[in-house]
Amino acid sequence: VKADLRSTLLEINKTAAKYFYAQLKSNRGETAYRYLTGRALSDETITAFGLGYSSKYSDDLYRYLRSKGYTEDQIRQAGLINTDEKNGVYDKFWNRVMFPIMDVNSRVIGFGGRVMGDGKPKYLNSPETMIFDKSRNLYGLNRARTSRKPYFLVCEGYMDVIALHQAGFTNAVASLGTALTSGHASLIKRYVQEVYLTYDSDDAGTRAALRAVPILKEAGITTRVIRMDPYKDPDEFIKNLGAEAFEERIGKARNGFMFSLETLSKNYDLNTPEGKTDFLKEAARRLGTFEEELERNNYIEAVAKEYQVDMGSLKKLVSKTAIQDG
Ligand code: ATP
Ligand code: MN
Ligand code: MN
Ligand code: MN
Repeated sequence: VKADLRSTLLEINKTAAKYFYAQLKSNRGETAYRYLTGRALSDETITAFGLGYSSKYSDDLYRYLRSKGYTEDQIRQAGLINTDEKNGVYDKFWNRVMFPIMDVNSRVIGFGGRVMGDGKPKYLNSPETMIFDKSRNLYGLNRARTSRKPYFLVCEGYMDVIALHQAGFTNAVASLGTALTSGHASLIKRYVQEVYLTYDSDDAGTRAALRAVPILKEAGITTRVIRMDPYKDPDEFIKNLGAEAFEERIGKARNGFMFSLETLSKNYDLNTPEGKTDFLKEAARRLGTFEEELERNNYIEAVAKEYQVDMGSLKKLVSKTAIQDG
């Protein structure tokens, strides 16, 4: 019975995705369609990602799904409706541009919906359901899995993934409005051994990158970090500077550990002996977490070079810190 319900929920989501797509292409969807083309998406891209529109009528989708024979309970379990005493049953998504979220086999498991302006919340996402586990799915993976690149570009948002794919970077994926988890990391590990983090350039994006680096490392994935400044995110970067400039940024990506240290160094005044010493002590503590000697030594060498400190002294500091910690 459980397996039956799962397949019914998948069917409902698929039906809803087709409905949203048809709405986008109809007269009703004109504003939404203009919103998407205004964000530089081509028809081909809109179709490839199955983008859609949820109308202004608050129970439009619900009535449509009922007319297809699904029960209120099934539609609720698919995460597509809410109920309250005053309004009864109503659609979760209305008057939003819709992004169907697919699993690796291109089955629709949920949706993200964006307001076409400054309303709040900017994005509304399906709740987790029997078929939608946010920490075990990645937006765009169904397409990225067939990319020939040996690494994934992991970014923050739906629009980033779509803009990157449209620009030819078909190895882009995003976590779904959540931080990267170890579940995501093991999912990624099935396809590639290397990740280029392409998060937003704001503080939230930097923090997200700092948290993702050790999670990926734990899964045995090498991480590099791409910076998007002076733009906010990959979508805006590509729109302003184009694919070639993005390719250059890929080439200049920093190793995840070195990126973390660089971010850390901003908390210290490296021009004073005490600031530099404190920083190097913390760097040594982190260098001590590399268990393999060859790897640890390579990083010690890189840090010594970058922060202009004698490699032998740094090595001693790392050993000493390890003994104190252990
Ligand atoms: P856009 O370019 O359309 O403004 P964005 O992807 O740049 O969107 P961010 O604010 O950077 O938007 O958010 C990144 C991602 O986080 C979004 O794509 C979405 O998945 C998720 N997200 C953003 N805001 C919310 C929210 N209010 N609730 C849930 N998830 C959100
Ligand atoms: Mn952001
Ligand atoms: Mn954006
Ligand atoms: Mn963003």
